[in-house]
Amino acid sequence: MILFRLILLIPALLFFPFTFCQGEDGTAPASSIQNPANAATFGSRIIQSSLWTPEELMGKPEDKIAVRLTASFNGNLPQRKIPVNIQAPLSPELQNSIRRVAPINGIKVIALTFDLCESATEKSGYDAEIVNYLRENSVKATFFAGGKWMLSHPDKTMQLMTDPLFEVGNHSWSHANFRTIDSGRMDAQILWTQAQYELFRETLRERVIAKQIDPSEMNKIPKTPLVFRFPYGACSPIALDKLKYFGLPAIQWDIVTGDPARGRSPTEIAQVILQKIRPGAIIICHANGRGYGTAASLPLFVTKLRARGYDFVTVSELLTHGPAVSHKECYELMPGDNRRYDRTAGMKQSDHR
Ligand SMILES: [Zn+2]
Repeated sequence: MILFRLILLIPALLFFPFTFCQGEDGTAPASSIQNPANAATFGSRIIQSSLWTPEELMGKPEDKIAVRLTASFNGNLPQRKIPVNIQAPLSPELQNSIRRVAPINGIKVIALTFDLCESATEKSGYDAEIVNYLRENSVKATFFAGGKWMLSHPDKTMQLMTDPLFEVGNHSWSHANFRTIDSGRMDAQILWTQAQYELFRETLRERVIAKQIDPSEMNKIPKTPLVFRFPYGACSPIALDKLKYFGLPAIQWDIVTGDPARGRSPTEIAQVILQKIRPGAIIICHANGRGYGTAASLPLFVTKLRARGYDFVTVSELLTHGPAVSHKECYELMPGDNRRYDRTAGMKQSDHR
């Protein structure tokens, strides 16, 4: 099996002139790591509180501001391009584009998700107000982070990784449109991000050792992101095949808040969620500074949903509650509705294969 996987990886290894890195314990690359069904915890409060002060965790309002970079910008490439840890291929029920879960016995579990998108020509933001609300109210959530976003927000990434409330998923490297890029770029967009996460996990491990924290606390932080979200919600059969091979479920949504639209009010966001909520729902929001009414909407729906019996869980936890409801196409609300992005996105990634 390992030989088979290495044979399949040969094109990727040729594509990236980098050596295959050693594992934490010095062994060869692991083949199968965590299955989402086994994922229960995602962080360590001990590690987090040892490495950052409460003020550092709070962040600053200006963290939210995105900065546009020059068109010729060609920095911020990952130090590692092939991850050490590759998941086992997906089982058939997780291979399509997952829109929600059908919880067994209708248990009222839902997943709140926030995308941390960052394209090749920008440094996007971090919405501290959202994260602080979630922490203060013990709301579990999943953050789909771009690899480039991770690299430009190292402390925020590691703070999210160490937080027991949160799961960090993969949102591609530089927000490419997977319907318009070629196979090699798909590999890069997926694997660079997995590798960048690993580098930050290794940094965390070094800091844990330096601070003389019990090293077993690191076991609570997944070795690799366990879930993936396509930018623009755009995929292709080849892209879904890639995720199947790399063991990353494609997580979409069934509730669109529309929060990147300027002028979208907190009340409108909360209304959409309160009207469309159902057991197993996956809600998409943004925490990269482009969720304009998002932070202010949280108090308008979190308490109400809890009063109606809903529990917030991470996406990997949601997947343990019942079968995934999926579709062979990726779309926003109905098949074909996000093809408008094909003309404008995915062609600006020349700086980032
Ligand atoms: Zn995005």
